[in-house]
Amino acid sequence: MTGIGNSAASRDKAYFLHPYTNLHAHETQGPLIVERGEGVRVFDDSGKEYIEGLASLWCVSLGWGENRLVEAAARQMRKLPTYHVFGHKSHEPGIDLAEKLIGLAPVPMSKVFFANSGSEANDTVIKLLWYYNNALGRPEKKKIISRVKAYHGVTVATASLTGLPNNHRDFDLPIARILHADCPHHYRFAHDGESEEAFATRLAEQLEALILAEGPDTIAAMFAEPVMGAGGVIVPPATYFAKIQPVLRKYDILLVADEVICGFGRTGNFWGSQTMGMQPDILTCAKQLSSGYLPISAVMVSEPVYRACVEESKKIGTFGHGYTYSAHPVAAAVALETLAIYEERDILGHVRSIAPRFQSRLKALADHPLVGEARGTGLIGAIELVADKATKAPFDPVGRAGAVVNGFAQDNGLIIRAMGDSVALCPPLVIGESDIDLLFDRLTRSLDQAV
Ligand code: PLP
Repeated sequence: MTGIGNSAASRDKAYFLHPYTNLHAHETQGPLIVERGEGVRVFDDSGKEYIEGLASLWCVSLGWGENRLVEAAARQMRKLPTYHVFGHKSHEPGIDLAEKLIGLAPVPMSKVFFANSGSEANDTVIKLLWYYNNALGRPEKKKIISRVKAYHGVTVATASLTGLPNNHRDFDLPIARILHADCPHHYRFAHDGESEEAFATRLAEQLEALILAEGPDTIAAMFAEPVMGAGGVIVPPATYFAKIQPVLRKYDILLVADEVICGFGRTGNFWGSQTMGMQPDILTCAKQLSSGYLPISAVMVSEPVYRACVEESKKIGTFGHGYTYSAHPVAAAVALETLAIYEERDILGHVRSIAPRFQSRLKALADHPLVGEARGTGLIGAIELVADKATKAPFDPVGRAGAVVNGFAQDNGLIIRAMGDSVALCPPLVIGESDIDLLFDRLTRSLDQAV
C-alpha cells in the first residue's frame, strides 16, 4: 500500500474503475465523495452542501432520508431477505408489485417481468421481441429501430440501441440488426423555417422511408423514450408520436416505451407515454420505481406479446431468460412503499403544481448569452450551451457545459450533469419552490462565471 495514502480520494484513484467517467481525467481530478443526503440535498466528506439537481441519476424522486423506504426494506430483510422467482417459485412482494404496475399501466398490459436495471429491462425486451417473432413464425422480423441520441442502456445490445457516440466508439458497437432513426430535436435538426408540425411530419416520412428501405418484414419494433433523457432532454414535437405510431402500426412494428426516466410523474403525468400520446405494446421502467433506493426495473408486456411467448414455451419448454435477482423481494417491497407514498402524498399533484415555476425559471435562461435553447416539460429540462446564439454553433467536444457543471456549479453547491453541450436538470420530485429558486440562482451564477 506504499504511496497510496489513506484518504478516501487516493484509495478511490488507486482501486476504483468508475463507470461512465473520463478515466484519464479521473487520474488527476479524483472523486467528489458524497457522504450523506437529506431531502433534495447531499453533503460531501467535507460537509459541503449541494442541491442534487439530477436526483442522483434521474431517480431519487422522494429525496434522501425517506425513512418509510428504509423501514420497508428492513421489514422485508427480516422476513425474507432474498429469494428467486425461477421455475414456479414466487413471493408476495413480487406478486403485489406486478399487480400494482398492471393497475397503473398507461394502456392495458398483461404481465410484468422484473430485472435490476434499465439496461437489463431493455435487454430483456430485445430478447422478448426476438422470441415473440420466432413464436409467430417470422424469423426475419428481428431488426429494431432506435433513434440518434437515444439512451437505452449499456449492455452489448442496449448500448447498440443507444444512439450516442461514446457508447459505441471503441466498444465495437452497434451490433447488427439495430437501426437509428432521426432524432426529434427541432432546435438542432429542423430545416430553416420548418415548423414543429412540419418537422414531425418529415420525421414520420423519413421513418417510413427507412422501414421500406430495410423491408417492413425485417423490423420487429421501435424503442423510444417519451422525452429523451441522456441524449440531452429532448422533448419531441407535440404531434411526433401521433404521426409515427400509424406508420409503425401499418407495418406491424411494435412500439416500446422506455419510461426509465419519464415514468412515475417526471413529465407531469404518471407516465411519459401519457404526456407524449404514446400507446406502447411494451413498456420498461426503473429508477423512480424505487426512488432509486434499491435497484429494480420492470418490463410490462401486452397480452398478444405475452400469449405468443406462452405458445412458444409450450412448444420448446422453459422460457430461458431471467436474473437471479428478478423481483428481488427487498427491492420489490421498497418499490411498493415508493408507489404507496406517491399516492398518499399526491406526488403527481405536487409535480403539477411546482412544474410551472421550474419551467419558467428554466425557460428564462434562454436569455443568457451562453444558452442556445432551454427546453423541458414537467420537472425535467436542459439548457444547451452554444458558442454563437445566431448560428447555433456548438462548443468544441469538451465544451463549456463540462466546465459549468464540474467546476462552477459544484463550487456553488449544485450537482447537475453535462451531456455534450447540454446541461440536464431533473431534481427530486419532492422539491419545493424555494429550492427550485435556489437551484436556478446557483445555476445562473455558474453560467455567469463561465461567460
Ligand atoms: N433507459 C433510459 C431512458 C435511461 O435513462 C437509462 C439510464 O439512465 C437506462 C435505460 C439504463 O438504465 P440503467 O443505468 O439502470 O441500466
